[in-house]
Amino acid sequence: SPSIVWFRDDLRLADNPALRAALDLGEPIIALFVLDEESDGIRALGGASLWWLHHSLASLAERLRERGAELILRRGAAGRIVRDLVADSGAGAVFWNRRYGGPERDVDAGVKSALREEGVTVASFAASLLHEPWTVTTGSGTHYSVFTPFWRACLALPAPRAPLPEPREIPGATPVPASDALDDWELLPTAPDWAAGLRETWEPGEPAARRRLKEFLDTDLPGYDSARDEPSAGATSLLSPRLRWGELSPFTVWHEAVGVDGAGRFLSELGWREFAWHTLYHAPDLATKNLRRDFDAFPWPPLDPSRLDAWQHGETGIPLVDAGMRELWHTGYMHNRVRMVTASFLIKNLLIDWRLGEEWFWDTLVDADDASNPFNWQWVAGSGADAAPYFRVFNPELQAKKFDPQGVYISQWASDAPTEPIVDLGETRKAALAAYDEVKRGS
Ligand code: FAD
Repeated sequence: SPSIVWFRDDLRLADNPALRAALDLGEPIIALFVLDEESDGIRALGGASLWWLHHSLASLAERLRERGAELILRRGAAGRIVRDLVADSGAGAVFWNRRYGGPERDVDAGVKSALREEGVTVASFAASLLHEPWTVTTGSGTHYSVFTPFWRACLALPAPRAPLPEPREIPGATPVPASDALDDWELLPTAPDWAAGLRETWEPGEPAARRRLKEFLDTDLPGYDSARDEPSAGATSLLSPRLRWGELSPFTVWHEAVGVDGAGRFLSELGWREFAWHTLYHAPDLATKNLRRDFDAFPWPPLDPSRLDAWQHGETGIPLVDAGMRELWHTGYMHNRVRMVTASFLIKNLLIDWRLGEEWFWDTLVDADDASNPFNWQWVAGSGADAAPYFRVFNPELQAKKFDPQGVYISQWASDAPTEPIVDLGETRKAALAAYDEVKRGS
């Protein structure tokens, strides 16, 4: 009887422990991907994510086929689909790599217990994080709320395991179960087709992810620490969408970078990714609820939609903000320093609730994920774990002077942006601090 490998955020063949376990069992493989827009609480993917997913699935399907298996695509509530496929195919085992969001864990736990009751073998594996969230705890057994001790604790744990090699052959099950056609899912934008900039910028899929990793290690890693904050330097890895979709495993990245001169800073950025996911594991409402509950009292003024719109479309008259928002719209990506500046501007100069900014990033980023996006928004807002203190307001003009002194980034993205700021930076900063004082008085 065949074994099902249920692919989710791990669209790769190398270092895929679920796939490895299925192959070790020696039975033919059914490779499955489910687009789940029905299960309770699962967040619908944003437009840029759907674009990436389409291409990454196409690449995975091709690679599986070359090795002997078809990728079966189904759409609907994942729990029901997996159980139906087990029943129809007579599968004796189901394998997957773990997910850490609340609703995803609920789905997985439900499938696991239902199938086990029917006598089906089910096993799940650690593949997306270097450390399982329940293994990194403080002396008193709680979750870390500050990054530095969290990362120190991670580094003191046994080193992340070595990545698994890529299988050469993946014998597919026959008969091949029915599959949707990827094109019928219509994940790509058509009218209008806003994805031209994404196509110019990215090549989704595991082979391109591996090429990018190699290129980064060979050319950019040595200078990473000094140049990572300059948006025009092209000094960062651009691995975030590849990690988000699991085209590349963090174990692979870790083992290829560790030991290289100057890798410590880069590896600690992987640490922030871990920290965000561990935080989500312990606070599944991260995208909607302030981690610091005293922040619930923040007096957000009534929304002025024209201001939100100006921010979204890079029409604020603040050059670095407009450059970032235009880079995001065009490429589905924004440099980290500029993400911090644009987020701070939305929250602290436009006094717009961080959740609205988080939603826009969710829809437009190719690397948007359930943990990193809300975690970082809460970090900038000051409502999060180990957050930047609220009173530390990024000044986008000083940030531009410091990190884009020649204006290279700004002229690349915002040469034709408006020059009249929609708000006064000094006055709005004062208003934001006064609003924050209300929170402090209330707590
Ligand atoms: P590199 O500098 O090369 O870093 C290597 C890897 O470390 C990244 O690929 C990423 O996986 C991880 N990483 C780096 N910084 C962070 C961080 N602060 N938090 C979590 N992981 C990090 N990152 C996402 O992956 N998805 C998001 O949805 C996301 N939303 C963000 C929203 C805001 C408001 C801010 C300020 C940051 C956000 N980030 C997000 C974090 C960061 O901006 C991106 O991970 C980074 O810019 C990706 O570029 P890179 O791969 O070249 O990074």
